[in-house]
Amino acid sequence: MSAKLIDGEALAARIRADLAPQVDAVRRRTGAPPRLASILVGDNAGARVYARSQARSCEEAGIAYDLVELAADAGAGALAAAIARLGTDAAVHGIILQMPLPAGLVAREMTERIPPAKDVEGVTAAILGRLMFLEGADLVPCTAAAAYELIRFTIGDIRGAECVVVGRSAIVGKPVACLIMNDRGTCTVCHTGTRDLKGHTTRADVLVVAAGRPGLISGEHVRPGAVVIDVGINRVPLLDAAGGPVLNDKGRPKMKTVGDVDFESAAAVAGAITPVPGGVGPVTVAILLRNTVRAARALVR
Ligand code: NAD
Repeated sequence: MSAKLIDGEALAARIRADLAPQVDAVRRRTGAPPRLASILVGDNAGARVYARSQARSCEEAGIAYDLVELAADAGAGALAAAIARLGTDAAVHGIILQMPLPAGLVAREMTERIPPAKDVEGVTAAILGRLMFLEGADLVPCTAAAAYELIRFTIGDIRGAECVVVGRSAIVGKPVACLIMNDRGTCTVCHTGTRDLKGHTTRADVLVVAAGRPGLISGEHVRPGAVVIDVGINRVPLLDAAGGPVLNDKGRPKMKTVGDVDFESAAAVAGAITPVPGGVGPVTVAILLRNTVRAARALVR
């Protein structure tokens, strides 16, 4: 490996440290901490793990965290009512709707009910739309902002950099491209309709990969010296030296978390690269905390 490892934990710690005085300011003004409410519908194991880790991060930052649980069969009306109640509760500054939702509930229809002033994940049309107007200094989509902050952390000034984003989702690819352009980077967005993926990625000074496809990008896609930000989170079987699955004590394959980038081959070519885990993930959580504190400050002003 010749690439420098980009330390997401270090950037996350820096972002969190900046929040401490702002959390105190909210407390002084209202007598209470910033408060994040997280709605969990049903009992998805992954969503519960996320919620638990968010609760821990909030506690460490001095932010109150309420987990609001609804039964899997609660229905759209009950979920809408819960969001509306939290939306008008002055003690609540941020609202998250944990994904995935049980079958029958349409995610977009539900997330759009979150008041933009409390949309600390940055998933509503209002918050995404504001990015178009260079007004991204308030609430920003968490994962996209994490990728953007990691680029700035690594290269400082984005202006003029040739950036390629792989993935065009509304929650990662598109907002990342927008943040890059707002900062005057030159940005190409690749996706499943792109004819020559490698032709684009090998031009990139900065390559952001958010495709949800393990191993999609390898060393041959990377320009020598490029900065590679791997947003992907994929669970794949752990393999032994012979290429067979490693089994746990119940006889099931052990799993591990990998990104969308084949780390070893890409790190041999890149100038700097984020690990998975330990890159985008911790920064995403730090941005969620930052958004919550920003929302609280704006709401209690
Ligand atoms: P998505 O499925 O909504 O979008 C994936 C995008 O990748 C699509 O636009 C698609 O066109 C593109 N794509 C897929 N296969 C491709 C291929 N072969 N060639 C070119 N483009 C291709 O996914 P998403 O919600 O944007 O998430 C992307 C990844 O980021 C996932 O692995 C997800 O788990 C991860 N993620 C990480 C965090 C974090 O905090 N680190 C947060 C959210 C999502």
